[in-house]
Amino acid sequence: MICSNCGNAIDDQAAICVHCGAVTARGMYMGIGGRPVKPPVDPNEPANGGFIVLSLLIPLVGIILGAIESSNGKKRAGKAYIISAVASIVFWVVLSLLITFGSFLLSLLPYFIMLFASTQE
Ligand SMILES: [Zn+2]
Repeated sequence: MICSNCGNAIDDQAAICVHCGAVTARGMYMGIGGRPVKPPVDPNEPANGGFIVLSLLIPLVGIILGAIESSNGKKRAGKAYIISAVASIVFWVVLSLLITFGSFLLSLLPYFIMLFASTQE
């Protein structure tokens, strides 16, 4: 990068310009001359694919991850984990309802067969 104070080329990772000693933007983030400050968090930082899968597999993890990321300012990623967790919960609820209802219908099958057989006589 170019030093904003003296205009000389300096290392991108430099916190202080080697030519004039001015603190760079990066140096300010690192808190040169003071307490280290947190780098700004991008609220639109995309969600981690692995964490999305984890949220789908274990909804509780997704909700916790979502809460942590949201409180860290990563709104987009946090939302994605929570949506994944909720989608997973809805999926399992629907699936278990289908299985319950399906086995209920299956348990009625003999009666349907008996009913059908009686109408054939
Ligand atoms: Zn400089």
